[in-house]
Amino acid sequence: MKDKNIYVCGIGPGAEEQMTIEVRKTLEECDTIVGYTVYLDLLPEELKSKEFLTTPMRKEEDRCRMAFEEAMKGKKVALISSGDAGIYGMASLMFEIGKDYPEVNINILSGVTAASSGAAVLGAPINHDFCVISLSDLLTPSEKIEKRLRAAAMGDFAIVLYNPSSHRRKDYLKKACEILLEELKPDTVCGYVQNIGRMGLNVKTMTLGELKDEEVDMFTTVFIGNSSTKLVDGKMISPRGYIIGR
Ligand code: SAH
Repeated sequence: MKDKNIYVCGIGPGAEEQMTIEVRKTLEECDTIVGYTVYLDLLPEELKSKEFLTTPMRKEEDRCRMAFEEAMKGKKVALISSGDAGIYGMASLMFEIGKDYPEVNINILSGVTAASSGAAVLGAPINHDFCVISLSDLLTPSEKIEKRLRAAAMGDFAIVLYNPSSHRRKDYLKKACEILLEELKPDTVCGYVQNIGRMGLNVKTMTLGELKDEEVDMFTTVFIGNSSTKLVDGKMISPRGYIIGR
């Protein structure tokens, strides 16, 4: 019988206002919050008094098991990810590890992902079909990432790039742009948003040709327009195709 509960919560991009009410209420009711230390700093003050457990970065499996072990003690446990826990977050790993803890019910609570919160800052860059691709090759072979970039460009999708950079892979965005430029025009409208909902919010628009030479950090989400994307009053807009003014 599943009589124990874990809540896998996406806390949104950072700002308290961008956390869903469902997640906020659940965190308030939890005994223990498990997560990466950076996320603790993003939590509202009232939640900082909760028991908070963490493991070093990249110890994702340990962090998940820690959450299950706490739940097995009868505690109400929340495991937090930034944005949405089901988008480059811990949700799938929790189900995989959950096989070892049949008494624990896994509840996934969605959050506002960076593609959505970043798009809102830029204007409406993904208002039509779009693809989301992570440039991190920690869990995906680089050949597969390159194949997905080419396929997205061929499909004329607007593209959102997560994990565009890290200390180890400073030139990945440049490489990705070079692949996209095989198919897309250099004047394709692009933009990026850094630190969405956090201190140091930074937004910029540019062409794909210019994006190739931009340096971004790991707290940045990059947007590449489709062939119809345009700048309207400084905002990056991918029209849906409505014929207006008639
Ligand atoms: N689960 C998260 C994504 C984690 S992957 C979500 O749904 O948003 C980490 C990547 O997400 C970062 O490299 C960056 O590309 C993006 N990201 C997450 N939070 C961000 C923020 N506050 N501002 C800008 N980019 C962010």
